[in-house]
Amino acid sequence: MTQFVVPSVEVSSVAIFGSNLRFPVRRIFCVGRNYAEHAREMGNDPDREPPFFFTKPADAIVDDAAILPFPSQTENLHHEAELVVAIDTGGTDITPNDALAHVWGYGVGNDLTRRDMQAAAKAARRPWDMAKGFDNSAVCGPLHPVAESGHIESGAITAHVNGNCRQTGDVADMIWSISDIVATLSGLVTLAPGDLIYTGTPAGVGPIKPGDSCTIAINGLGSVTTTFAAN
Ligand code: MN
Repeated sequence: MTQFVVPSVEVSSVAIFGSNLRFPVRRIFCVGRNYAEHAREMGNDPDREPPFFFTKPADAIVDDAAILPFPSQTENLHHEAELVVAIDTGGTDITPNDALAHVWGYGVGNDLTRRDMQAAAKAARRPWDMAKGFDNSAVCGPLHPVAESGHIESGAITAHVNGNCRQTGDVADMIWSISDIVATLSGLVTLAPGDLIYTGTPAGVGPIKPGDSCTIAINGLGSVTTTFAAN
């Protein structure tokens, strides 16, 4: 067994609906601007620029019902309601026709974003890592295996803050379908078991304040709630 000079990290993981087993998280990929209305609300033209990828660290994953400290260094923390795809068999250059066979299951995610820091990064043409990949930034509810939920091709997706509806959309309105996402991403990096893909958010992103509670829901996949300390 390899001997390390500092404590080695534990494998990050996320819950599985109706099971005590956990899904091990290898990498977290995210799609940007995958809903036309959200691309427009952020000042972009979805007809001119296709979606794209960014990443979060695996240990940014957060389970349902977490109570989190409010993130540092932001005055404008945003919720982003997203369908999360969990990969079970990996590969490179997966074709769109084969893509769904690589999906283990689906979950409800919240791609937490320091919007003010992201805007500053965009203006300075700097990377988004600290705006997107901070501690506890990847909220994910219990995963539903395809064997039970089937593939999620449509369904209402919502975000509520303190019970007030902020985002409503439909998973069917994604610019890149799940097959497109898996195929395109596998042409950029080798996918492997344990990869999670956040598939983008519909319009209506907005702020979360200290003391708020945020719930993301997708029809057929339940919901995930995160509460932030009042500070
Ligand atoms: Mn997002």
